[in-house]
Amino acid sequence: MSALPSMPGKSRPAATEAYDVVVVGAGFAGMYMLHRLRQQGLSARVYEQGGDVGGTWYWNRYPGARCDVESMQYSYSFDDELQQEWNWSERYAPQPEILKYAKHVADRFKLRSDIQLNTRVDRAEFDESGNLWSVTTSDGKTATARHVVLATGCLSNARMPDIKGLGDFKGKVYHTGHWPHEPVDFTGLRVGVIGTGSSGIQSVPVIAEQASHLTVFQRTANFSIPARNAALTEEERDSFRANYPEIRRIAREEMRNGIVQEVPDRGALDDGDAERRAKFESRWAKGGLTFMGVYNNLVFDKAANDTAADFVRGKIAEIVEDPQTAKLLQPNDHPIGSKRICIDTDYFASFNRPNVTLVDIKSDPIQEILPHAVRTSAREIEVDALVLATGFDAMTGSVAKIDIRGRNGQTLNQKWAEGPKTYLGLMSAGFPNLFIITGPGSPSVLSNMIVSIEQHVEWITDCIAWMRDHDLVAIEASRDAEDKWVAHVNEVAHATLYPQANSWYMGANIPGKPQIFMPYIGGVGLYRQICNDVAAKGYEGFAMTAAEQRQEMAAS
Ligand code: NAP
Repeated sequence: MSALPSMPGKSRPAATEAYDVVVVGAGFAGMYMLHRLRQQGLSARVYEQGGDVGGTWYWNRYPGARCDVESMQYSYSFDDELQQEWNWSERYAPQPEILKYAKHVADRFKLRSDIQLNTRVDRAEFDESGNLWSVTTSDGKTATARHVVLATGCLSNARMPDIKGLGDFKGKVYHTGHWPHEPVDFTGLRVGVIGTGSSGIQSVPVIAEQASHLTVFQRTANFSIPARNAALTEEERDSFRANYPEIRRIAREEMRNGIVQEVPDRGALDDGDAERRAKFESRWAKGGLTFMGVYNNLVFDKAANDTAADFVRGKIAEIVEDPQTAKLLQPNDHPIGSKRICIDTDYFASFNRPNVTLVDIKSDPIQEILPHAVRTSAREIEVDALVLATGFDAMTGSVAKIDIRGRNGQTLNQKWAEGPKTYLGLMSAGFPNLFIITGPGSPSVLSNMIVSIEQHVEWITDCIAWMRDHDLVAIEASRDAEDKWVAHVNEVAHATLYPQANSWYMGANIPGKPQIFMPYIGGVGLYRQICNDVAAKGYEGFAMTAAEQRQEMAAS
């Protein structure tokens, strides 16, 4: 394995180690990154703050947690033996199974020896004279590396709500995104769940079965589609396995969101009422994220979107017996799909249980948490335990926790103060040799994450190999290319209904966070093509520094 030279002329602590690449995070992105780097003969160190690999699936172990992308598609494609041999049990794998898969990958590809667990990266500083990063970790050590890859995940910085008195609550408080590793038993307890996004909607039906009483505190109602989860049959698994090369190709190249599904050839208003209703019924019966793919204009045309939203509101009214509760559960403040659509198992039906109550905290806000109760403007609700399903500082939150210093000592947080700026979501100008996997400005959270992760890992490792072959020591996004990309990401987003919602895609869930639509909506196929074209043109839009002259030259 090669290790690039350490910083010349710099005094450094004795504990400094030198790697070609430092990777931050050992989730699906970090693990594949390490695997590819090793294949290229590069030395790499992965730092992971969790106690094991798995990232999102290590932390989000709340009751009912499962992926909302089907298991046969939410899996690595880079190794055919792996995809042929792994046995997914259900249409949507539960969290423990996905975590088991992550651990299996770590063991199968012998990744663990280069992954340092329980270690946070606190700081990363770029040394312009040596074109090297200096990375400081929570164990007080420093490592140098030519490249740093942020594989920190998009939904990994769990957000505690700022509610008065929360610290004085005498019962247990859990955050869905930071769930304990010991079993949690709510049997006989009065539980309060705050938050009704995907995490709340998945956990409510499971907690309702255990708790003596469950109170759900809802600020904003969300659209949710039944998962229709079921055990996978051997025939279903075999059919995928036999067709994997083509399925993976279609997911990468032809699907906007990297999930193979039927592609509609018409808009919602092209059909009459009866035909449209029949199509919605059929997708509702099928279940899952592909509900939004029934027509090709649901995210572009408000009138078309209204037809789908009305259909789902109607379903909620059919399921929920109490009309007042049903009305509160019907979302009416954003177009369907403009916030991440939720996928549930019996969420709405849970409100028919005698031990479940919905509290609308939009009209009756939470004032404070008391030692044994939640006090809203109008009442006091006694609870023994609280579950905070209040989401994440998404896409930028985990990056922002690291003190990243690029050229001239500028921090990434300073640069991104008015919103994240990247070229292709992969790099940010002023921060040479620092790559981001599924960063803001890439399809990322709007896609099957594993499809996007594999594409980024392959693009980045190809780029590093190309640099080595061309004797280059630094790559940096140019300001001009970055500005144009940011404008393009923005323009594409605003051609859709997405920016109409106060979503975490927009940063709207974090007080004070700049409201900018962060992921790239153009679709994974188009995006992949753009990235490939950039690479084919000698990394157009990036500036490169050669090893000998250490002078900048345009890449193209
Ligand atoms: P989320 O979608 O951001 O939902 C957070 C919820 O908490 C919202 O209902 C929000 O209300 C509420 N909330 C936040 N702060 C609050 C406060 N101070 N007081 C009262 N309510 C408050 O977070 P999430 O449910 O964890 O999901 C985040 C994303 O993770 C999802 O969109 C999805 O992409 C991913 N995820 C996926 C799966 C899956 O694969 N099945 C499962 C879970 C999560 P407002 O809407 O009014 O702000």
